[in-house]
Amino acid sequence: MRAVRLVYAFDEEAPGGRDLLGGKGVGLAEMTALGIPVPAGFTVTTDACRETMRSGEVPPSLWAEVDEHVEGLQERAGKRFGDHDDPLLVSVRSGAAISMPGMMDTILNLGLNDVAVEGLATATGNPRFAFDSYRRLIQMYGEVVDEVDGHLFEGELQGLKERRGARQDVELTADDLRELIARFQEIYEREVGSPFPQDAPEQLRRAIRAVFDSWEAPRARVYRRTYDIPDDLGTAVNVVQMVFGNKGDTSGTGVCFTRDPSTGERCLFGEFLLNAQGEDVVAGIRTPQPIEQMREIMPEAYAQLVDTLERLESHYRDMQDIEFTVEDGVLYLLQTRTGKRTAQAALRIAAEMTEEGLISREEAVARIDAGQLDQLLHPMIDPSADVEVVATGLNASPGAASGAIVLDADLAEERGRAGDDVLLVRWETTPDDIHGLIHSVGVLTAHGGMTSHAAVVARGMGKPCVAGCDALAIDLDARTIRIGELELREGDPLTIDGGTGRVIVGAVPLVPPAIDENFGTILGWADDFRRLRVRANADTPTDAAKAREFGAEGIGLCRTEHMFMAPDRLPVVQEMILASDEKARRAALDRLLPVQQKDFEEIFEAMAGFPVTIRLLDPPLHEFLPSAEEATSDAMRRRIEQLREANPMLGTRGCRLGLQWPEIYEMQVRAIVRAARAVAERTGEPPLVEIMHPLVGFAEELRRLRELTERVASEEPGVEYLCGTMIELPRACMRADEIAESADFYSFGTNDLTQTALGFSRDDAEGKFLTYYLEHGILGRNPFEVLDREGVGDLMRIAVERGRGVKPELKLGICGEHGGEPRSVAFCHEIGLDYVSCSPYRVPLARLAAAQAALAEAGVTAVAIGG
Ligand code: ADP
Ligand code: MG
Ligand code: MG
Repeated sequence: MRAVRLVYAFDEEAPGGRDLLGGKGVGLAEMTALGIPVPAGFTVTTDACRETMRSGEVPPSLWAEVDEHVEGLQERAGKRFGDHDDPLLVSVRSGAAISMPGMMDTILNLGLNDVAVEGLATATGNPRFAFDSYRRLIQMYGEVVDEVDGHLFEGELQGLKERRGARQDVELTADDLRELIARFQEIYEREVGSPFPQDAPEQLRRAIRAVFDSWEAPRARVYRRTYDIPDDLGTAVNVVQMVFGNKGDTSGTGVCFTRDPSTGERCLFGEFLLNAQGEDVVAGIRTPQPIEQMREIMPEAYAQLVDTLERLESHYRDMQDIEFTVEDGVLYLLQTRTGKRTAQAALRIAAEMTEEGLISREEAVARIDAGQLDQLLHPMIDPSADVEVVATGLNASPGAASGAIVLDADLAEERGRAGDDVLLVRWETTPDDIHGLIHSVGVLTAHGGMTSHAAVVARGMGKPCVAGCDALAIDLDARTIRIGELELREGDPLTIDGGTGRVIVGAVPLVPPAIDENFGTILGWADDFRRLRVRANADTPTDAAKAREFGAEGIGLCRTEHMFMAPDRLPVVQEMILASDEKARRAALDRLLPVQQKDFEEIFEAMAGFPVTIRLLDPPLHEFLPSAEEATSDAMRRRIEQLREANPMLGTRGCRLGLQWPEIYEMQVRAIVRAARAVAERTGEPPLVEIMHPLVGFAEELRRLRELTERVASEEPGVEYLCGTMIELPRACMRADEIAESADFYSFGTNDLTQTALGFSRDDAEGKFLTYYLEHGILGRNPFEVLDREGVGDLMRIAVERGRGVKPELKLGICGEHGGEPRSVAFCHEIGLDYVSCSPYRVPLARLAAAQAALAEAGVTAVAIGG
């Protein structure tokens, strides 16, 4: 039996796509098939990487297959690998199935050695180019294959530039570079303990192996954890014949998007550098030129680029992000992938591509990353605020962020974890800063362009970024930064506006976001596709109004305890709790009744025409009292002692309160029905009232509470309402059939249901053992953020089946935090709930997620972004 093939040339048919060849490999093969100019090359499959990770050794047939394909490359190029006169050179590039920009490794100019570099210099008549290529190889190879600290090479290069008075690399001469090579080789030999390898096939084998190993590098792991990428995918390795952007002023390299990844505008958006090799643009070492300037400098290559981009976009039917090189005026594409974009750009691109007829409305809706929309639902700088703009950089990733200045990634992580808002301020960022970026509210860099590492990563994370802020200088020893004349210390507050590039001293007032036209268009389409209704959790008329603006179709959870907390009411509430007998308690409750009634009236009016679910008092009473030490009287102190519980979340709360002290719920029901009557009389439109009892576990609890509700409500004859319960205890799920006899609706309270089903106290889990569980992979996700489908979800499924089994018309919803989390919303769709309810700001996200769940059921899903 012949072993599985592990290597495919770009122009060969492979028995798999992205999973086998990686995103980069698939893109290169597909472009080759389309006749787009791509250098020749081949892909080592992810199978080979996985096998190497599993066994610790590369598969036995691998090197023979690689040799065979190198042979093919040589024939095609008419050059030999390892040749001394005019050598074939290649790049070795990682590429996983899911894009992880900058996380994995690339080595350029492989195949050079001390003799071949002289040959290349002669063959091309361009010694500067030859030496530049070789010094890059030594540096990249040293870093990637032998883990030599890159700063050693950078420092040497910097030192040489200073001695020569050169501002940029390109000002160094061939002789300078020859000297640099000697020093790089010294560094290599000193750090590695053996001279730089001169044998081309050996270089290639070790490089391929190093790329496999880079899959397991710490930064790659952190990245995968952040983006939920499985650890066992492995990476492919692409070996590509070199084309050279560093041959002089008719050569160059660049990156380009087919639409603006920040705004979504249809235009070429990119940057290029003359006389440079690929990594220079992304590394932010030299600040590149805008792509339009290429039109004058190399008109033919530019025209070809424009044409190629159009072809790629219509082929992939999505915005592409490409990397290219021009060698002596000839264009080559080195990569294409579906471009990462801001939420704002995603919406605009989806809306406009639909108008252009490139995609359908269904695809447009399916394509938007619901989680990413969160970006747009965050505060921005108050336009009317008087702000002190001290500098302007590139508007690399939109949104505003205020935070304390932090100058390195480790400290950013530490302070961020401690709960501080920190703004990472760097000369430029590298993949090693990823942990700092994760824990910062935004990032500001002095160097680098719109496609620099900081910009790309920030956009992906939905964090504001201002890049290439020339006025900024950082003194890491003094822990200060200088912006023009101004000096600030680490820890000082600073604000960036990634939408405009402004850098502002101090913290600045932020305003809530609104839904723009493209967002509105996409949400409008989403509404046509979804089956789930979307409501909001709102306790105040202001929240209710905000929720309406964001498209909520009712309130799924109105918590009454917040109304009890208001400073003018709390004393009356305390009086009620401290009352020595029922009579005194009722007297206090009588005074609360009109205020509660007024609250409800306002909320009903704000939600006119839509249902409002009001939950009766839920928290343990001690929450309304001060601590024993702060008690103002002996009576109060005694009562506080009496109410003290070892585990209040499982104590006297929810309907247990309402059953023991029925006058509390009676007052609340009375306030609700009176408010409903008053609003109906005033507006002519009776509100859709739903009265909800919390924490029911036994059918008998709800039976009694329904009786209470009906008795009190009958005081206002003619007011219609539904009476139901939260389902937030495992027992309630199991006995959902019995409980349904007294319920018109169920609302899953998945915060409590998660706590009680998992036996995790939320307050104690997060930040303690749960963090350990997540970091060590015992759990994949935080179950308080993403619904635990298997455990909590199964309980919900049982409750749905049993409840609807006895009462098919039973209305079902969810009002825990999960109601606004896209994956959890999809689950709610699957199990047939009628609605989800979430915080007002998440309503747009839930509308979209609900539509995507319905579309997925019909077979419409998003295309994976990768490359
Ligand atoms: P990343 O995944 O980090 O983008 P790549 O493998 O795409 O890494 O390589 C980075 C850059 O190196 C490319 O954008 C390209 O400019 C340059 N490069 C890679 N291979 C070649 C090649 N064969 N010829 C010329 N440049 C190359
Ligand atoms: Mg690339
Ligand atoms: Mg609850």
